[in-house]
Amino acid sequence: MNEQPTHLNGAAEIREGDILFDCPHCGKSMAIEAAGAGLMVPCADCGRQVQVPIPDASTPAAPVAAPRPFNGAEDPQVLIEQLDAALAMANQQNDRLIAEKEALQERRAFLEHLRVTNATRLEQAARELESIQDALDRTMALLAEIRTEKPV
Ligand SMILES: [Zn+2]
Repeated sequence: MNEQPTHLNGAAEIREGDILFDCPHCGKSMAIEAAGAGLMVPCADCGRQVQVPIPDASTPAAPVAAPRPFNGAEDPQVLIEQLDAALAMANQQNDRLIAEKEALQERRAFLEHLRVTNATRLEQAARELESIQDALDRTMALLAEIRTEKPV
């Protein structure tokens, strides 16, 4: 934990949540991490003891860092590569779905063919049964004739 204030004219960065304040002795602007609120610290410039203000509504907040793109892709080239990769993946998935759809259409055509074939076979079987029924009817009629003509 660094509770030494940073001189704002130095190159040190101001981080999110830092408290910004001026030295009451020399007037230099300083920044310190939020944990330093209320502490007595030596001024980064004149070295005299300064109380770090406790932030409230009247204290301007430290600037919040600008939002960064996700995945840490600060470089547009990296972002373009990531988008290309995502696009390639989407295209692959699309190709897979098209292949699946074609396979389903083939299967549907096969099932339709099977249904038609089965319907034809059922019709054929029904016709065969009909002729068997006719043959049975004729046989029964002949048997009946034989019985009636048979002397008891
Ligand atoms: Zn000072």
